[in-house]
Amino acid sequence: MTSIDSNTTLFWFRRDLRLKDNAGLFHALKEQTKVQAIFIFDTNILGKLEDKSDRRVSFIHHSLASLSDELQKAGAGLLVLIGEPAEIFMQLKPAAVYANHDYEPYGRRRDEAIRNILEKRKITFKTFKDQVIFEKDEVVKDDGMPYSIFTPYSRKWKEKLKLNPAYSSSYSTERHFANLKKTKPLSIPSLTDIGFKETESGFPDRMIRTSVIEEYDKHRDFPGIAGTTRLSVHLRFGTVSIRKLVQVAMNKSETWLNELIWREFYHMILWHFPHVESSAFKPAYDRIAWRNKPEEFQKWCDGTTGYPIVDAGMRELNNTGFMHNRVRMITASFLTKHLLIDWRWGEAYFAQKLLDFDMAPNNGGWQWAAGSGCDAAPYFRVFNPELQTAKFDHEFKYIRKWVPEVDTNAYPNLMVNHAMARDRALRTYKEGLDRTNA
Ligand code: FAD
Repeated sequence: MTSIDSNTTLFWFRRDLRLKDNAGLFHALKEQTKVQAIFIFDTNILGKLEDKSDRRVSFIHHSLASLSDELQKAGAGLLVLIGEPAEIFMQLKPAAVYANHDYEPYGRRRDEAIRNILEKRKITFKTFKDQVIFEKDEVVKDDGMPYSIFTPYSRKWKEKLKLNPAYSSSYSTERHFANLKKTKPLSIPSLTDIGFKETESGFPDRMIRTSVIEEYDKHRDFPGIAGTTRLSVHLRFGTVSIRKLVQVAMNKSETWLNELIWREFYHMILWHFPHVESSAFKPAYDRIAWRNKPEEFQKWCDGTTGYPIVDAGMRELNNTGFMHNRVRMITASFLTKHLLIDWRWGEAYFAQKLLDFDMAPNNGGWQWAAGSGCDAAPYFRVFNPELQTAKFDHEFKYIRKWVPEVDTNAYPNLMVNHAMARDRALRTYKEGLDRTNA
């Protein structure tokens, strides 16, 4: 193992697994010499993953192998450690540690603890904005309060970028590669070393398909068409740069730019309102009397509800770790409204299965569907799965791919009648909300 002495500066990769246009790495290389890149397989996180073929762990492992190859080309190496970050940092004594901001509650607590450990020992811990264009309170209302409605937030976001386009300029890390610490090639632990196995499904390409972006407006809502970019996992783990994507979006598609802004909006919401991690953004919605029937939840998870578009979505998720955005909205609405199952159950299931799982947009998406979120669909908007199918998959292209038995007797009957479920949902939501006001 390479030695970490007081002349070495560490750059700690977390959800920013790329060398190019990486803000924290750029600053480390510009300000320091002998920069050693490290990654920690955090046992606090790994220990909670039940599926030992977890797709996210495989994705990280693949990304680390690519990073390690790239670093080797520059005569450097990637040091991969396994353990609890706080304990690891207690044993290291580098000159400084650099990283990029993490906005999730766990990441914030971890970084706070590490900052304390390092600063007590006079080791600098510097972190930078990297995964978003605007963070924390960089886009707030004129009175300094955070936005809770998307449209004015996005307007301000765009105005701010227009006034100062440098916010989306790339960092030329490669200009400073000479400051990487030269090492012999370092080997990275195998998946088995960390108690996991390779997943069987492949990963979306990180290529930016400009034709998809140009036609995004026309195709994005049709799950049977490859009309979205599939870059979500790359944004989640930082294998692409948001600055690069925003530069493309500004030239090619306002609609796609808005989706990138939705992502930042939800990160901003989680930052300012961390209670959304476990409760409704609008507290009144915590009074809804969910039915929470485990056997009904199981049918939803398995994709055997009898509603083909819902079942296709759940089977796509179970088989690939991905689900089209339109279908995420339909399946989430079905769970919370038709079955009256607490949105947190669905959120947790998606968190377990999605390759692109990211707490802020997942929580935002679920609370949007349940009506409990900021700028959410009003509770009385109950998606009709049949009308959604007629609009977005009328030829059953998507449905037949995932539910091949749809036209046969083998396909289950409807588990619940739409009109009855809709009335029940409206009644139950209204009762819950009225209870709060009493
Ligand atoms: P594109 O349509 O090509 O969009 C480009 C990027 O913009 C995406 O990669 C994503 O980073 C961002 N984006 C797109 N739509 C949204 C949106 N509605 N909200 C926030 N960001 C968006 N996205 C996640 O990245 N992780 C999640 O865990 C997640 N969970 C969701 C749960 C529910 C219930 C819902 C309704 C949505 C969820 N989304 C989540 C948002 C969205 O469905 C995915 O980002 C999108 O389907 C990813 O496909 P894509 O990369 O082809 O997106």
